Amino acid sequence: MNAVSARVAATLKQLRGERRWSLGDTAQFTGVSKAMLGQIERGESSPTVATLWKIATGFGVPFSQFIRLDVGPPQALPAAPQAMRVTPVFPWDATLGFEMLRLWLPPGARSESAPHAVGTVEHVLVESGTLWLTIDGTLRVLAAGEGERFAADVAHGYENRGAVPLKFHNIIHYPRGGRA
Ligand code: MN
Repeated sequence: MNAVSARVAATLKQLRGERRWSLGDTAQFTGVSKAMLGQIERGESSPTVATLWKIATGFGVPFSQFIRLDVGPPQALPAAPQAMRVTPVFPWDATLGFEMLRLWLPPGARSESAPHAVGTVEHVLVESGTLWLTIDGTLRVLAAGEGERFAADVAHGYENRGAVPLKFHNIIHYPRGGRA
């Protein structure tokens, strides 16, 4: 198992243990199926970015808690070729109050996000390519160097309708210092 996948599996198992949540409880609170949660926890399946976000939101913890490594440089969560890829450039820091992710979307790919916890704010900044960003049904098109700040407690989506890969950063602020 890849180091990031191992971290995802161990974090899920640890959080369930701390909360004393069964797989059924966790499915109810995250909206991710028991079967999928079991596969992720056993390291048999790597979640998509969207699925891992549902899990983080359900537990009320920062996204990067699942993919940060204790040693070495940040690594991407394993992803299918047409899926969004994420690397925690600056994992959640409780003192500074934010985390920063680097995201990558191949041409033609999209990733739909369920609403995050109330008060979660995203700041997206396009590094290269173009981002088609949908926030609660409203489309915004961002070119390289352009950014958008939005309340992420509504459905939103990231899409690359262009011909070249899209790279962007996402600085995420959580309410109550990242704790539910
Ligand atoms: Mn999001």
